[in-house]
Amino acid sequence: MSDFSMDVGDDGVAIITWDTPGRSMNVMSLQGFADLEALVDRVIADDAICGAVITSGKPDSFAGGMDLKLIATLKERVGEIPAKGLFEGVMGIHAILRKIERAGMDPKTNRGGKPFAAALPGTALGIGLEIPLACHRIFAADVPKAKIGLPEIKVGLFPGAGGTTRLVRRLGAMAAAPLLLEGKLNDGKQAKAAGVIDEVVPPEELVERARAWVLSEPKIVKPWDEKGYKMPGGAPYHPAGFMTFVGASAMVNGRTQGVYPAAKALLSAVYEGAQVDFDTALRIECRWFVNVLMNPSSAAMIRSLFINKEALEKGANRPAAPDQKVSKLGVIGAGMMGAGIALVSARAGIDVVLLDQSQEAADRGKAHSAAYADTGIKRGKSTPEEKQVLLDRITATSDSKELRGCDLVIEAVFEDPGVKAEVTRQVEAVVGEACILATNTSTLPISELAKASTRPEQFIGIHFFSPVEKMLLVEIIKGHETGDQAVAKALDYVRQIRKTPIVVNDARFFYANRCIIPYLNEGIRMVTEGINPALVENAAKLVGMPLGPLQLTDETSIDLGVKIAKATRAAMGAGYDDACDDILFWLADEGRLGRKAKAGFYAYDECGKRQGLWTGLTEKYPLAAEQPALVEVQHRLLFVQVLEAVRALEEGVLADIREGDVGAILGWGFAPWSGGPFSWLDMLGPPYATERTSALAAAHGARFSPPDLLREMAAKGQSFYGRFAPAEAANG
Ligand code: NAD
Repeated sequence: MSDFSMDVGDDGVAIITWDTPGRSMNVMSLQGFADLEALVDRVIADDAICGAVITSGKPDSFAGGMDLKLIATLKERVGEIPAKGLFEGVMGIHAILRKIERAGMDPKTNRGGKPFAAALPGTALGIGLEIPLACHRIFAADVPKAKIGLPEIKVGLFPGAGGTTRLVRRLGAMAAAPLLLEGKLNDGKQAKAAGVIDEVVPPEELVERARAWVLSEPKIVKPWDEKGYKMPGGAPYHPAGFMTFVGASAMVNGRTQGVYPAAKALLSAVYEGAQVDFDTALRIECRWFVNVLMNPSSAAMIRSLFINKEALEKGANRPAAPDQKVSKLGVIGAGMMGAGIALVSARAGIDVVLLDQSQEAADRGKAHSAAYADTGIKRGKSTPEEKQVLLDRITATSDSKELRGCDLVIEAVFEDPGVKAEVTRQVEAVVGEACILATNTSTLPISELAKASTRPEQFIGIHFFSPVEKMLLVEIIKGHETGDQAVAKALDYVRQIRKTPIVVNDARFFYANRCIIPYLNEGIRMVTEGINPALVENAAKLVGMPLGPLQLTDETSIDLGVKIAKATRAAMGAGYDDACDDILFWLADEGRLGRKAKAGFYAYDECGKRQGLWTGLTEKYPLAAEQPALVEVQHRLLFVQVLEAVRALEEGVLADIREGDVGAILGWGFAPWSGGPFSWLDMLGPPYATERTSALAAAHGARFSPPDLLREMAAKGQSFYGRFAPAEAANG
């Protein structure tokens, strides 16, 4: 079955409908391009056809983007020279879109040609907007939920099918910048205001309006194909344009810290492309695009943030069990986490019982959803009716009998095993036999908590990250006795709320916290060694961590750090490393509890705005006369996390390296350019990683000793994705 079909009306207008079989949203493949080109050729060649409307057979969307596996296929096409395969393949795509844009016009006089309109019923992303940009007029249905834009930069790419060149020539570099460099998405109205599309029309009139336009004998020559075209806002050699490019270079470097190849390549494509004719600009765009595709960072980002993330969301590690979709959810504890869990669940259409010790506390938790909806209304993203529907789904109560009929209950009460055990007994007394009970604990072993349950095979960890509405990862933790049905339930629930799951085995701090805590500690430890705190923070940011370890400790709070330090000491006894205790306990004693106290490693003003590192730090821990090299600090900060990830794999806490990589980026923002800890190790190669960490261990302590697994892989010449990627998964 073909992805595209065509219907020619009596009026001579061809309606080309894109409808990828078996997908809820259209995705472009190599076959799809071939199908589209054949129809475009027919439109141009057939005298009975006067023009075309390209639309979608899916009700609320035009297209979700390109099938990124296509890139791997192109790479393989020319055997030894993948860059050549990519260049030729992408130039082939340009040729198809250029064919639509030129539409059979005479190349010299620009006469003739047939109008192509794009009619977007809703979301149009990536190639789903690049095709419309090649058409002569873009209509979008007025659907507030539609997302229109070019988000490629978010997976380490940039729009490489003409989107970059066309958008810049349409809007100017300045106006195109947020759309290209940030991947900003808009609904139809916003996209029209931004100049990305031409008309917003009621959904039911979409195709007819586009058809009427095709019949109106419109002028179809693109401005850049006419003589005397000038780029809006000025080309780079124009004084105004010059300022844009100087500013954009600085902005890109500031935002990306130079670690994301795509943003820099995008800017180069825009800058160089702006100085030449359109077809040459497309070739330049293509060369930079291939340059990015050949960069190991881009390949790793695509693998983790696109291919493997999607595989995990679709249940790559789901045990075989019938559909476990949740229909009624119980959330116990309406505090910060419980309120967020109730909100994201109700938003996904699940009925929620939100239970706390008092009605007042439960109501406070529900008020979080009301406040969230109000913000949405203020921003035009939601309506009072939608707010009501959302709130109607949440029953706030202090009566545990309301939990009857729940098929999943998640507890988010105080982090206290006694309180949690009591809650477990209370819940099991009222819910049905098949109900799954989950805990949101961040530190307590699941298998221990499961002891309070009479059905430990139905007991599981579902660990959210704060703030729940924003954080995309959910860590599912199997206790020793957790059964397959509970895992399937947790995975199906996470899918319902549209987050990304990883499934790990029970061990101290599970996976994410196990890796992030050493990062915080390493940064704090360096301050005690007399390393300049500014060097620590900047080194982290320059290597792509979203927050420095000191800032992150302030965000999560110093008292939490103290609590974790005490609990870890109690659990580990003699093996406990107390290098950070003095500074943490001192800050806590000083009342510098972090951002919430407007005092911590950083100083804050009275509104809570960060002012800079607190000078008291270097008074107590004077700066060492000799400061380490930047890369030494960066290696300490990264390897301390990555080695924990390897140990988690070695110990069987992680069962799938894809989860290790995706979880690291989504869970704690591990340098996304790297594709995750395992991708980074593969980039470095286990032999170098072993050598480097051995040197770090000699200089700084045993926490850097390379795990046996890493040594073994170095000796055998193996890579993580070569050795551990599941057979069907992307490992390129
Ligand atoms: P919180 O103090 O904001 O909320 C806890 C809520 O539980 C309070 O409203 C309290 O009244 C209620 N509660 C206590 N005992 C109860 C009982 N017996 N029955 C019903 N309700 C009861 O705490 P939080 O930050 O939301 O954390 C909750 C859980 O989530 C903890 O286990 C914590 O470790 C975990 N967690 C927290 C974070 C975070 O960043 N705060 C992140 C992940 C997981």
